[in-house]
Amino acid sequence: MCPYTCYKCKQEVDITLTEALPGVKCPHCGQRILYKARPPIIKRVKAK
Ligand SMILES: [Zn+2]
Repeated sequence: MCPYTCYKCKQEVDITLTEALPGVKCPHCGQRILYKARPPIIKRVKAK
């Protein structure tokens, strides 16, 4: 699951079906342009 933000209304859209559905749109305003709000910050240090 990745948090997405609507391009138009800036609402955070929690998309779970996005990956399954071809047409994704903001449930708030219907905007179809969503972008990933924040890339998951994964800091992994490979320990030897
Ligand atoms: Zn929206």
